[in-house]
Amino acid sequence: MSNTEPRPEEVPLRASVVRAVDVIEGRKAAIGDGTEVRRLLPKRELRTIGAWCFLDHYGPDDTSAGEGMRVPPHPHIGLQTASWLFDGAVLHRDSLGSEQLIRPGELNLMTSGRGIAHSEESPEERPALLHGVQLWIALPDGKQDISPAFTSYGNLPVIDDGPARITVVAGEHGGERSPATVFSPMTGLEVALLEAGEVTLPAAAGFEYGVLAADGPAAVACPASTAPVTIAPGQLAHLPVGVPAITLSAPGPSRFFVVGGVPFGEKLVMWWNFVARTAEEIRIARETWENGDWDEVHGYPYGARLAAPPLPPGLKPR
Ligand code: MN
Repeated sequence: MSNTEPRPEEVPLRASVVRAVDVIEGRKAAIGDGTEVRRLLPKRELRTIGAWCFLDHYGPDDTSAGEGMRVPPHPHIGLQTASWLFDGAVLHRDSLGSEQLIRPGELNLMTSGRGIAHSEESPEERPALLHGVQLWIALPDGKQDISPAFTSYGNLPVIDDGPARITVVAGEHGGERSPATVFSPMTGLEVALLEAGEVTLPAAAGFEYGVLAADGPAAVACPASTAPVTIAPGQLAHLPVGVPAITLSAPGPSRFFVVGGVPFGEKLVMWWNFVARTAEEIRIARETWENGDWDEVHGYPYGARLAAPPLPPGLKPR
């Protein structure tokens, strides 16, 4: 995914503002071709959840008639992108030469490190429905300049827990550990309720959590601390450090995506597709991309790479 707002604002990222269990309203945004997404992170009132610093939820969209997803080549620094589908298929290409189709149940994890470029498109042969989440993970200090990498994980641990089927996308849950390489204490889970019911997930010590409902209104509760809250697609429940457990329930088959982690204490500057520590790093990355001095993505069939938007005043040299 790429942030394609014509004039994206500078978003200084700080540690999450933790008040109480909260429902965060996403905002509608457009990516690439105009695909509409619900942006749940970053928000003014909640910048990050652990090292998770960006969360878009999109679909379900019927892509049988139109073009589907088309996000031209664009750059990233300082982060990992995690792509997860509930329905459909997306083809990823990157400047390392990777070309990888992702399907539901699989994780595409791209580590930008010091710099990478990629594109995303709906393949010509595809299921009609497209529905997924695009997440970014900030690389912690000392890891932001590592070499770029791309890995597709097709065999993630799956745990059956009552009516729930839990896929361990990142980190650890229920004694199972995701093979995905991450650099901060964190977790990422898909929780599918296969029928009406509930499941309780223990919370890790020191972790805050966010929960999105993929399908419809569903309930999130913290035993012994708060009343259940109801979330619908487009909303994110934020659970602060200290909750003992998280109970998810729904009146029928329903899917959730859960992110968690130790609150990210570092001051970050996030602009366009870059996560950095200083405005200077952002300026250099933008200039390098605009000058074409960046490894190319080959094979994207739908036109030119994205141009960087103009820098906002807050990131221009003083
Ligand atoms: Mn991207």
